[in-house]
Amino acid sequence: MKTFHCDNCSKQVFFENTVCNHCGWMLGYQPEHQIMSSFTPADQAEVQADAPVDAPADLPADAAIESSTPARWRSVNPLNAGKLFRQCRNYAQEKVCNWMLDDQDAHALCASCRLTAVIPSLDDAGNRILWQRLEVAKRRLLHSLWTMRLQPPPKPDDADNGLSFEFLQDMPHERVMTGHADGVITINIAEADPAYREKMREQMAEPYRTLLGHFRHESGHYYFDRLIAGTARLDAFRALFGDETADYGQSLQRHYDNGPAPGWEQNFVSVYASSHPWEDWAETWAHYLHMFDTLETAYSCGVQLRPQHRGEQQLVIDASPVEEDSFDALAREWFALTYVLNSLNRSIGMPDSYPFTLSTPVLEKLRFVHAVVREAGGEPGADGSAISGIP
Ligand SMILES: [Zn+2]
Ligand SMILES: [Zn+2]
Ligand SMILES: [Zn+2]
Repeated sequence: MKTFHCDNCSKQVFFENTVCNHCGWMLGYQPEHQIMSSFTPADQAEVQADAPVDAPADLPADAAIESSTPARWRSVNPLNAGKLFRQCRNYAQEKVCNWMLDDQDAHALCASCRLTAVIPSLDDAGNRILWQRLEVAKRRLLHSLWTMRLQPPPKPDDADNGLSFEFLQDMPHERVMTGHADGVITINIAEADPAYREKMREQMAEPYRTLLGHFRHESGHYYFDRLIAGTARLDAFRALFGDETADYGQSLQRHYDNGPAPGWEQNFVSVYASSHPWEDWAETWAHYLHMFDTLETAYSCGVQLRPQHRGEQQLVIDASPVEEDSFDALAREWFALTYVLNSLNRSIGMPDSYPFTLSTPVLEKLRFVHAVVREAGGEPGADGSAISGIP
């Protein structure tokens, strides 16, 4: 993830923020530029221009927009000169989004919210916060996909190649399975509840289970269909991941009945990856996105490592991962960075943020994902329509 700054006071802000905690200006993400911008109500622009630049630092979050929700906003970012903007409807009304739309845009929902086909019932008071967390994780996934120039079109716009999300809740006699089928990613909203997720993580003996990880994993299945299935890449895929035509149901049943084969870690990034080549691909894809986003963050923050001990790895990240052709360079940076990530986490009493070791076969699979992403990014998809640039 890139770093973002308030246009008004220049302080650093996060991708998820709706308000600058320093100066109180309303913030919104503009996917067309991949930036966070600061906004002021359009009809009060002159008044705002005379207001002191620095509001008290302890201004409560959302104070600036709590009293009313203006219909039109101006941005002081020079990229937005002369334009008016609207908040996504899910921003203005539901408070689960922070993306902006050009006032000329025909849609009421932003490009992220348009991908969500089903939301949980808001009659259940606890569901709104779960929905919000799901949207936050989805937006982070989308930011990476768009940075890689792999923008999924919404399914209503492209029934064959599009993507949509369904956020579903367990019913008394019907359990929701998180998964992907034909361009529809279903997420059980309980995964947005940390207590449930931690219980499942323990139950499944997983070292790592996050909401963002679910989105990344399921997007892997979607991109398998777009970038691998039925393409010239399939042979190279099979050489690394195995024969994906192996019976999926039987493979999974065997995995759950017998557990992984001994020594699975020699060939797979996770236990679940060893259950079937499709899952291996999805786990490896998700892992590549973990690397991609974290290295982009480290690059944007200017992280460098100059260890005291001579044997330890130095780190200078020369390029954002989207500009990096060499997978070896990414892997080198990744090893140095994750050692420090885990060391820092242990120092503050947290579990390792990166509980993985990467064997040579796993690195070869990640190298393949890297090559596929670089080849596909910005080019038409295998069928000529799956992949497009940012709108
Ligand atoms: Zn600010
Ligand atoms: Zn939205
Ligand atoms: Zn899967």
